[in-house]
Amino acid sequence: MTLPTPKPGVLAINAYVPGESELPGGVKPIKLSSNETPLGPSPKARAAYIAAAEGMERYPDGAATALRNAIGKAYGLDPGRIVCGAGSDELLNLICHVYVGPGDEAIYTEHGFLVYKIAILAAGGTPVVAPEKDLHTDVDAILARVTPKTKVVFVANPNNPTGTYIPMSEVRRLRAGLPEHVVLVLDGAYAEYVRRNDYEAGIEMVATTPNTVMARTFSKIYGLAALRLGWCYGPQPIIDALNRIRGPFNVNSAAIAAGVAAVEDVEHSQKALAHNDKWLAWCVEEVSKLGLKVTPTVGNFLLMHFADGSAKTAAGADAFLKTRGVILRRVTGYGFPNALRMTVGTEEENRVTLKALADYMGKA
Ligand code: PMP
Repeated sequence: MTLPTPKPGVLAINAYVPGESELPGGVKPIKLSSNETPLGPSPKARAAYIAAAEGMERYPDGAATALRNAIGKAYGLDPGRIVCGAGSDELLNLICHVYVGPGDEAIYTEHGFLVYKIAILAAGGTPVVAPEKDLHTDVDAILARVTPKTKVVFVANPNNPTGTYIPMSEVRRLRAGLPEHVVLVLDGAYAEYVRRNDYEAGIEMVATTPNTVMARTFSKIYGLAALRLGWCYGPQPIIDALNRIRGPFNVNSAAIAAGVAAVEDVEHSQKALAHNDKWLAWCVEEVSKLGLKVTPTVGNFLLMHFADGSAKTAAGADAFLKTRGVILRRVTGYGFPNALRMTVGTEEENRVTLKALADYMGKA
């Protein structure tokens, strides 16, 4: 008897491990493990979600027209060149399913988002890792790994979990060095948070090249992580291909309604951004004062490194913080066995976390 056998590649996947969200004893944690927004969604998005409960018996608009129109208006894009998905995770997977198959390669960076590897393997392709330079995407290292088999290159800009970014001039150099048949995916999950003059999420590059796609999410600054909502903007032929293979109703009605309200509530996003500006800087400074090295970050999170050989370790800090009700993110799977990632929280959450961390480091 021959039992069902997964396709090659599937069993090579280590399933994605989400940030922890629960503590023993049912204690409500301070959860700074998944880069969610401390301000929550726009109240208008919440109201739209609840209102969408009327009409659950109907299928959603499979084309998510209202949402694509709202995104198009907010970002100045042609809605016809946008595809929405159940989180940007779904879109990253769909891109691999369209362009990567057995014998093909796709490149991502050393400490890049783990979903890239999963998506490549699930599509039957071979993941190729490009080393980073000082925890930044290294364009030359990526270009050095391109072969005729390369089909897709993923760049998270800014990257998670490092929080680092590369300027648009480097992204342009990457695009110019890649063969035309290679799809460059610019993952801007944290683009809304970046405050740097030399940064761009890639909208102009998508509009002016036939082979670049930008992926974005509603899970971060828009506060809709639970609803699973993302979108991508790309050249028409790529969008057409994605539309052929996505589920016909891959985004649900409540997510569409909440997404429209969220993207239209500019005031709320501005508030979330101002909060992040203030508290990211504060967290970086306070964590640094404890003698921990913090990677320069432009996202809504920071990566703190514990000194090798010291008795104070990421594992120790993580366990100690949990006793204080604080959950940060271990990042061993990203190649950082002795670092923790902390998402910017509310003022209270940040203060409690820093106090606990100071106690652990013996610097209270
Ligand atoms: N890209 C990056 C770099 C991320 O960090 C995340 C979320 N952790 C995603 C994409 C996926 O976001 P979502 O599926 O929630 O849209």
